[in-house]
Amino acid sequence: MTRTAILATLFIAAQVRTADPIKRGLKKTDFPRTISVTSNVYTYEDFHAGDETFTTTNMFVVTDEGVLVADGQGDPAATKGLVDAIANVTPKPIKYVVICSDHGDHTAGNASFPPGVTYIIHPTSKAILERQAAGRAGRGGSGWRLPDAAEVAADKKTITLGGEAIQILFLGRAHTGGDLSVYLPRQKILFMSEIFLNRVFPAMRSAYPTDWLGALTKAERMDVNIYIPGHGFTEKGDVSQEELRTYHKALDAVIAEATRLHKAGVPVEDAIKQANWGEYASWTLAKSQGPIAIRKVYEQLEGRLQ
Ligand SMILES: [Zn+2]
Repeated sequence: MTRTAILATLFIAAQVRTADPIKRGLKKTDFPRTISVTSNVYTYEDFHAGDETFTTTNMFVVTDEGVLVADGQGDPAATKGLVDAIANVTPKPIKYVVICSDHGDHTAGNASFPPGVTYIIHPTSKAILERQAAGRAGRGGSGWRLPDAAEVAADKKTITLGGEAIQILFLGRAHTGGDLSVYLPRQKILFMSEIFLNRVFPAMRSAYPTDWLGALTKAERMDVNIYIPGHGFTEKGDVSQEELRTYHKALDAVIAEATRLHKAGVPVEDAIKQANWGEYASWTLAKSQGPIAIRKVYEQLEGRLQ
């Protein structure tokens, strides 16, 4: 092994497991960035809006017949950055956009995707976006709306693009209720969108806590080398597998802590103050998402979750 190779190995071994780019040893100016995951699969990482700095991560698959994109960014300028980054990699057109998370931080920039792309969405997310668009229309707004030609994937849908088989999967309700994943069987890659928040505190505003654990278990049982998150960094294969299990443990621990407080009869406002998140207290968004997690688990335990 050369000296440089040894140093590179040490650097990788020392890489801090975090969603925070600065702690990770990166600079804010390193973003947005495109990462080559395999010869025809890429991720695109740009910063999420807000006080805490972490990435929103998209995936795109390049084939001879065009490109499939999984998720966009949170505003038209940021998604234009994604579209431009794809054009830097390939002259092929974007054919499909899979809406894996219907949340605005992954869809509010969709006006920047070229007209004529085919959207794929879960029926639950389709209904959510249509309700939101109707609300905006009522207020005289004119944002992006899901085209009528959008295709739905309720359970499993396989697309063949340029000879590449691409599976769109619903692994169960998780972060939004209409969570879709994109599986590439040839490369054994699973893009999980917001089902997997890499070192970001479990964000539960619209979540189904127990179902979410089930979706993670399903993902872990699949034949996957690389799991890609919707927030947090793109990791190498073995690290991505470890980090998915770490995330599963975090979600388990957060649900267990909220459940413990509920069983002890602690009122929700006191539970928010008393919750002990242990090692997860240092994760990105812990301060803002901890209280939301308590409320959501209480809702589920009291049968108030829709
Ligand atoms: Zn998000």
